[in-house]
Amino acid sequence: MAWLKHTYAAQLPASLYSEQVPEPVGNPAMVLYNEALAEDMGVAGHFEDEQKALGYLSGNETVPGSQPIAQAYAGHQFGHFTRLGDGRAILLGEVKTNRGLYDLQLKGSGQTPYSRRGDGRATFYSMLREYLISEAIHALHIPTTRSLAVVKTTDPVYREQLHEGGILTRVAASHIRVGTFEYARFLGEAGDLETLLEYTIERHYPALMDRPNPALALLEIVMQKQKELIVNWLRVGFIHGVMNTDNVAISGETIDYGPCAFMNAYHPRTVFSSIDTQGRYAFANQPNIAYWNLSVFANALLPLIDEDEAAASAKAEEVLDQFPEGFTKAYFEMMGNKLGIVNQVEEDRDLVNSGLKLLAEWRVDYTNFFTELRRGGDLINKLREEVAFENWYSKWEKARLRGTSLAESEALMAQTNPVAIPRNHLVEAVLQSAVSGDMQPFHKLLEELASPYDDALPQQTVPAGFDAGYQTFCGT
Ligand code: AMP
Ligand code: MG
Repeated sequence: MAWLKHTYAAQLPASLYSEQVPEPVGNPAMVLYNEALAEDMGVAGHFEDEQKALGYLSGNETVPGSQPIAQAYAGHQFGHFTRLGDGRAILLGEVKTNRGLYDLQLKGSGQTPYSRRGDGRATFYSMLREYLISEAIHALHIPTTRSLAVVKTTDPVYREQLHEGGILTRVAASHIRVGTFEYARFLGEAGDLETLLEYTIERHYPALMDRPNPALALLEIVMQKQKELIVNWLRVGFIHGVMNTDNVAISGETIDYGPCAFMNAYHPRTVFSSIDTQGRYAFANQPNIAYWNLSVFANALLPLIDEDEAAASAKAEEVLDQFPEGFTKAYFEMMGNKLGIVNQVEEDRDLVNSGLKLLAEWRVDYTNFFTELRRGGDLINKLREEVAFENWYSKWEKARLRGTSLAESEALMAQTNPVAIPRNHLVEAVLQSAVSGDMQPFHKLLEELASPYDDALPQQTVPAGFDAGYQTFCGT
């Protein structure tokens, strides 16, 4: 029995995908293989034979009986509507797990009908980066696509200069994006949108099937998932970097690790992406952009919400209007948890805001601040010499002990605040070693980031001035 399923191609219209086998590569070598994830998905047995595993995960061999495809999608990139699609990714098929179907996709596996001028390839460096950061995000307890393997090839990839090529096996609850709905609505054929809606609900949110207005119900739940996701990003200082609607997964997973980065010194306008010159995707602008992306999703769904255009818009707006307040509530609850406030009240919002203002003013390290607030340290001692901070600190001490014990407050902080995150300088250092042939530092960092809430981990320090010149890039 074929172990890969193909429900996407079987149930969806041909306009939404193209059959496409991966392009073979030269001298593939398995550099990373995520045994634990393979076990968890129940596919380890299919990759036990190393030669077969290398064949499948390099794209040099097709899983017998499988029917690989590239998915079509559109998207608003930096606000502009564009026809896109998997230009360098191929869906091998889906795996049935006890949590539902999961996609197995090769990224960097050659050109597809959607590649346009792209070479369909990825650098070894950028696929290692995605592996490291996506696995770290998972360990931080944030929904995300996962990484099953990285294969290196000697086929050259040109990105201003010559690089080694890499192929990442990405695992996702699905690769259905807001942009997939935009494609079905605006570039597909009559009926495509409805079929996509039915497929998506059946796959991700079967409980919505019997709702009187499934399209509206899907908008509501996707909004809820985006809210939770962005709150989580803000909790750990993650900046996605390119929140275009094609990079918004309907499943609520973090997807597309291009120019993402982690914030060190707290500042709401922190940006690392080289192309985000306006700060559209800056750290604290992420909720606004999520809201904008959701309005694009709502717009794509309109004909399914109500046949009458005005009625459809009114219903969609009623749902969307709940986002700002819902987000704010969830955000302050999360920030209250970071501060260890077990019994939160409305005025804690002022405490959060005034604290963040001080952090921004003094460019205090976001992660280390919350760690030291709980367990003490030089950073906190130094801050407490400042009158403004000491005033804040005594208010905080009262708030966290409101109707609870110190132990409970500390426990809440320990589970909300990571000790270790993928610091930009650490990520760059281990990637540099990796491309020079030494994977040891990469493995060490990967292991540390696998238990980011562990108090035994050393506190991370950022080399002075590192962030000032740090830039990240799309589609590298
Ligand atoms: P991303 O910025 O990774 O979300 O990519 C945006 C679009 O460009 C998607 O349609 C990608 O499939 C496509 N793309 C990115 N890199 C390449 C490449 N090297 N070759 C072909 N298409 C690409
Ligand atoms: Mg993308």
